[in-house]
Amino acid sequence: METLKHFDVIIIGAGAAGMMCAIESGKRGRSVLLLDHAKKIGEKIRISGGGRCNFTNLNTHPSKFISSNKKFMVSALNQYTHNDFIKLVESHNIKFHEKKLGQLFCDNSSQQIIDMLLDECKKANVNLLTDVIIQNISKNETNYSVELIDYIYSSSSIVVATGGLSIPKIGATKFGYDIAKKFDLDVISPSAALVPLTFSNNILDMCKNLTGISQDAIVSYGKTFFKEGMLFTHRGLSGPSILQISSYWKLTNEININLCPDLDVVSYLGNKKKLNSKQDISSVISEIVPKRLALSICNYLNINGKISEIPNKILIVLANFLNSWSLKPTGTEGYRTAEVTLGGVNTNELSSKTMMSKKHEGLFFIGEVVDVTGHLGGYNFQWAWSSGYVAGQYT
Ligand SMILES: Cc1cc2nc3c(=O)[nH]c(=O)nc-3n(C[C@H](O)[C@H](O)[C@H](O)COP(=O)(O)OP(=O)(O)OC[C@H]3O[C@@H](n4cnc5c(N)ncnc54)[C@H](O)[C@@H]3O)c2cc1C
Repeated sequence: METLKHFDVIIIGAGAAGMMCAIESGKRGRSVLLLDHAKKIGEKIRISGGGRCNFTNLNTHPSKFISSNKKFMVSALNQYTHNDFIKLVESHNIKFHEKKLGQLFCDNSSQQIIDMLLDECKKANVNLLTDVIIQNISKNETNYSVELIDYIYSSSSIVVATGGLSIPKIGATKFGYDIAKKFDLDVISPSAALVPLTFSNNILDMCKNLTGISQDAIVSYGKTFFKEGMLFTHRGLSGPSILQISSYWKLTNEININLCPDLDVVSYLGNKKKLNSKQDISSVISEIVPKRLALSICNYLNINGKISEIPNKILIVLANFLNSWSLKPTGTEGYRTAEVTLGGVNTNELSSKTMMSKKHEGLFFIGEVVDVTGHLGGYNFQWAWSSGYVAGQYT
């Protein structure tokens, strides 16, 4: 097989990070080949944020990221900030809004972000090749070789931007981890994150009965907690607070849910007992959580009757359930529904300033394939933009 062409930079994976890196390398006058095995690129961007792409967050800060090196992301986030990305979005006249908690979404469609990136790639003379199968990547003394089925491309720099393992049906693969291992880089075991939690037996039955109900809650695991919406589903629990805690939760341990985060339920029930002693307990609880949830909790705890007739110690059990429900998930829904992947290429192997491998000159890893995972809310895309930008300055 003969080498077809030499490029300064070959980027593998035309997702958020890969496209950003291609644009930046191209703008510096480097010849860039961007490769993807998918027929249609930017699929994760397209499905993100419910089709409106939560493309960054105004509160971007290293504390919003999980990594075995808590400071690794600082340099990239400083070199290319959320404001830099907002400027790019504005320069393409894409209208956006803050939904909540600093989360910025397109007003219309996430396709606008894909089109913007493709337009920038075009302006930067990036060569894009989709629907390709990459069989091997190797290195000789001077160059890297990327072997496709019929031909080989060579380059001075290789950027691996193949993302994580979530949503395999739209093209996620472990290719990036395999390349890292091939080049003798450590990979921290990946696992599904920002993912719904599953439960067994009676908790699952309760969730099934309550499917579709959402409730503001504080969900905590150890000292980590999130106060956001929680959703009952026919498979278990989901919603932002559950997705957030799933990135921290470890199998076999309990999580804790406060279903009434702004109310001391013990005092509330004490006052209600004094004031309105004839009221049925489930209707008392219906005043602070949705009616179906109130009924379900009373059934689950087998508490019924008029509040006046219920002993205080039973009311305390009920109050504790509402303010501090401890439950043990059996697992997660896994990569099928996870938004991101925890773990990845160990940050100890990479320069935080350039994203280049410390062992191999010219080999870069960016985006989700690296052991940096953002909280829910636009942080994962910001990491893709920032790490892609940084590598683009040094390829
Ligand atoms: C349903 C969903 C919703 C999300 N919503 C948001 C959101 O609103 N905000 C947010 O910040 N984050 C969101 N995320 C997370 C975000 O999409 C990712 O963190 C981000 O896309 C990572 O960018 P990346 O470039 O590293 O990887 P990706 O965007 O996944 O791109 C990787 C690319 O590599 C290609 N590839 C993979 N393997 C190979 C191979 N073997 N050969 C060639 N090419 C390959 C893939 O086809 C893909 O194009 C969401 C994720 C999901 C699944």
